[in-house]
Amino acid sequence: MDKGAFLEKAREGAELIKMHIELGHTIRIISHRDADGITAGAILAKAIAREGGSFQLSIVKQLSGELIQELAKEKHHIYVFSDLGSGSMELIERYLTNATVVVSDHHPSEKDEFSTDSHLLVNPVSLGANSVRDLSGSGVAYFVAREMNDKNRDLSYIALVGSVGDMQEIDGTFHGMNLDIIEDGKKLGILEIRKELRLFGRESRTLAQMLTYATNPEIPEITGDERKAIEWLRAKGFDPDMKYWQLREEEKRKLHDALIIHMIKHDVPKETIDRLIGDVVISPLYPEGDPRHEAREFATLLNATGRLNAGTLGAAICLGDEEAYKRARKMLDDYKREQIEARKFIIQNWNMADEGEHAYVFYVGRNIRDTLVGIAANIAINAGLVDPEKPVVVLADSDEDPNLVKGSARTTEKALAKGYHLGKALKEVAEKLGGEGGGHAIAAGIRFPKSRIDEFIKYFNEALAKQVTGGSGSGD
Ligand code: C5P
Ligand code: C5P
Ligand code: C5P
Ligand code: C5P
Ligand code: ZN
Repeated sequence: MDKGAFLEKAREGAELIKMHIELGHTIRIISHRDADGITAGAILAKAIAREGGSFQLSIVKQLSGELIQELAKEKHHIYVFSDLGSGSMELIERYLTNATVVVSDHHPSEKDEFSTDSHLLVNPVSLGANSVRDLSGSGVAYFVAREMNDKNRDLSYIALVGSVGDMQEIDGTFHGMNLDIIEDGKKLGILEIRKELRLFGRESRTLAQMLTYATNPEIPEITGDERKAIEWLRAKGFDPDMKYWQLREEEKRKLHDALIIHMIKHDVPKETIDRLIGDVVISPLYPEGDPRHEAREFATLLNATGRLNAGTLGAAICLGDEEAYKRARKMLDDYKREQIEARKFIIQNWNMADEGEHAYVFYVGRNIRDTLVGIAANIAINAGLVDPEKPVVVLADSDEDPNLVKGSARTTEKALAKGYHLGKALKEVAEKLGGEGGGHAIAAGIRFPKSRIDEFIKYFNEALAKQVTGGSGSGD
């Protein structure tokens, strides 16, 4: 990607924000309701406060025409859309004509630039970046903040928490401009990268729990079976009640070796084994055993707040609010429990999924909360329920509107090699169904009327078919 051109855009964004701070305007920030968006919002808020400016932050589930119209009624001089907005450039141009707008995002965009000077797109994807590997929404916010003030390099750990929340290092290593953020953080001594076990639970879960609830990747025969996990750990000489962070370095290595041998014996593909041990981000800003000490646990804590509509509580945690952290701890446990239930439901009922020529579609009604369907779709893939070359969509009744369903589509690099782009397909299908959809090539979302699920299945398969034969493959 063209780093220089991207940093230039980030600088332009930083200057617009600083100019409005000097004019005494409140900076209106709207960010996305997942770990990546929450950290991004917190980074921008902190950077603005540092310059003596005031901000108003909202954490939203998605952007829609109605939401943009409501924001326009607030009559702010400047709006900053963060970790969203690139898929709604035309709506932004239509409803926010008279305001300054900065879109700080990493989703594939409708076009490379806005058509007016008062609107600015800061997005690395049109400059050659891969949207799910090279930079997250929090990373884009980080570079805007760094251009506002060099002191904001101390937000590098928070930026990487967002990046891990978005699974930018899903193959086991960081890529693209994530590496520049890592360098900044290392120089300040606020983070380090270790080659460790990349499963959830390094700080707060026992080894037995860490292995039992391993879903990304799954561990054959052990995931989902706590008794087996305990037995296996004991057989390999580990105390199942210890936590990973408590192990000595040579014990960690012994555990890694045993897990790798176990996976090889169970014929797990090499790419999957490779991502079990890899980059893990640790920060000495927090004590060992604290979920905020490791990026994956921190990110999951933030996702838990977002999914329970408490995204601004998550942002407060990023800004160091201890009270907010204590309140969120309880949310984490419930959130993980729901993920475990979602996995059970998916595995037991997968036979009800519709298998089309190009995609699986599974409507789960109210059995899985609409904010967990993305995780459910990834579980179907990681648990080996599907052909990995065929995209998966899980649909659930919308939490907000009983007449709507919310869907998440997920797939693998292998499927992308055939030319699929889930974000483009869902955007196209949503337009036909009177809904809204979009996202990355490998992970995308949609909302549409519940009465139209059969049409969705047909249109989605058709849209994917066209992408394969059309040969319009792209890496974003
Ligand atoms: O995919 P999404 O970003 O919605 O995932 C949210 C969180 O859930 C991530 O932080 C990830 O670590 C966790 N997750 C999981 N098991 C999966 C998929 C995601 O624990 N199969
Ligand atoms: O909204 P946003 O860009 O932040 O979210 C990206 C989504 O894509 C997350 O839910 C993340 O877990 C998912 N993802 C995935 N597989 C990948 C990369 C990202 O499911 N390889
Ligand atoms: O990891 P490995 O392939 O050696 O383990 C295969 C299975 O045998 C595991 O499910 C493990 O629980 C079980 N096992 C056992 N007692 C041992 C070694 C392995 O029950 N001493
Ligand atoms: O909602 P879900 O987690 O499935 O979304 C996957 C990805 O698609 C996220 O990056 C999300 O921001 C994006 N998305 C989008 N437009 C939508 C719905 C989802 O860009 N209408
Ligand atoms: Zn993101």
